[in-house]
Amino acid sequence: MVEGQHYVGGEWRAARGGRTDDVVDPATGEVIATVPSGEAADVDDAVAAALDAFGAWGRTTPRERAEKLYALADAVEGDLEELKRLEMRNVGKPASIVDFEFDLTVDNLRFFAGAARCLDAGAAAGEYLDDHTSMLRRDPLGVVAGIAPWNYPLNMATWKLGPALAAGNTFILKPSELTPLTALRLAELAADIFPAGVFNVVCGQGETAGDRLVRHPDVAMISLTGDVGTGQLIARNAAESLKRVHLELGGKAPVVVFDDADLDAVVATLAEAGYYNSGQDCTAPCRVLAGPGRYDDLVAALGDAAGALATGDPFDPATAVGPVVSADQQARVVGMVDRAVAEGAELVAGGSALDRPGFFYAPTVLAGADQRSEIVQREVFGPVISVQRFDDEAQARDWANDVDYGLAASVWTSDVGRAMRMARDLRFGTVWVNDHIPIVSEMPHGGFKRSGYGKDMSIHAIEHYTELKHVMIKH
Ligand code: NAD
Repeated sequence: MVEGQHYVGGEWRAARGGRTDDVVDPATGEVIATVPSGEAADVDDAVAAALDAFGAWGRTTPRERAEKLYALADAVEGDLEELKRLEMRNVGKPASIVDFEFDLTVDNLRFFAGAARCLDAGAAAGEYLDDHTSMLRRDPLGVVAGIAPWNYPLNMATWKLGPALAAGNTFILKPSELTPLTALRLAELAADIFPAGVFNVVCGQGETAGDRLVRHPDVAMISLTGDVGTGQLIARNAAESLKRVHLELGGKAPVVVFDDADLDAVVATLAEAGYYNSGQDCTAPCRVLAGPGRYDDLVAALGDAAGALATGDPFDPATAVGPVVSADQQARVVGMVDRAVAEGAELVAGGSALDRPGFFYAPTVLAGADQRSEIVQREVFGPVISVQRFDDEAQARDWANDVDYGLAASVWTSDVGRAMRMARDLRFGTVWVNDHIPIVSEMPHGGFKRSGYGKDMSIHAIEHYTELKHVMIKH
């Protein structure tokens, strides 16, 4: 990585406007790097380079593209220690949790490499009209831009660049302005693998670099992972050029615990997955709905488990929970928990920022919040779990569905019939039964409702990065 430069058209370049952004270590609040703050002119350069590269890259065989993605997976795997160090420093991820997402990143790249060679188009070629043969093709779209968030910087970038490149598109990545370091490291690793212009990284703020990508007439698709408000804005701004928009937005995952659930398993999963990445996970199990026979025990056990989590230096192997990503994010968590308590929720564990440098917040449990309250309805994106008591299955289902989001949910029960009813009725893109959080490259991840549209991972993701074409030949 060349400090303070974008990677565009196979070259490292400073921002044309000469502006830079500071990158901060959330565990200390100190500046650790300076990156370019891209504006419209930088984006225009990247789009021109990606468009130029598309001519040849779009005609490569699936095998050629697969081989390059396998090479990138190998390069990432060979550089894991440095990539992990950058992500731990830039995002505040504890050593105890980073292995999972890096393993997934490498596996995602290998999955997309394989998927490049088995694209499905639907109906077989044939004569659907006398004397005419029809066939379907899956063509690449052209230049695809991926706009990534800060919670899993490298993994979210992979979910976009993998299917985009596998399908034959060229790609521009705009990482979050808060966490650009692994994206730049990835560009360094990709430099010797892909032809110039196939993979580009432009750093910068959403309102400048991001907005230019969204409005640029030569960008065929925007793939965003981010906040619901950002998704709404991008969908509006992309409408003028009618480019394709793929949106993975926020979540507020319910965890429905029936009285016949294995309580130890519920509490162990919540204590780990609910505070994983400091709760900055769009599928985090943050909204527990517990049956009347289990509510009291669950609140007590979860409070004890949250209180016992070691919170602190991400580089200490004993640390379970690191900082949240920024001072703004910490202030958001403080505000939401304070308002929940003022509105009558019972504070069972945590409930305050840690008195130390950096942006730490204690793992928190809130009990008895009202279904209409902010803490139940809005995404916190911090180490906070709320627990509510429901009366019966119908109320559990209705409360679980009664939010704007629809990304992920879990049901805990030993009754298979009830598990299947709930899996049918919950309006979420993923429903786990007796677990919460695992994901695999082969299965789709994506939302219903205001959690967005389009799926990441799986063959369904790669299909979204292609255009279906009908070719009809008269005999
Ligand atoms: P964000 O929406 O603030 O930013 C996401 C990206 O969008 C950043 O790169 C930002 O620079 C860019 N952006 C912002 N405004 C823009 C604009 N006007 N035009 C173009 N680009 C713009 O989100 P965040 O705070 O970085 O990430 C947290 C959010 O991401 C949470 O809501 C979380 O739920 C969501 N998320 C969703 C998933 C999922 O798979 N559904 C996964 C991870 C995170």
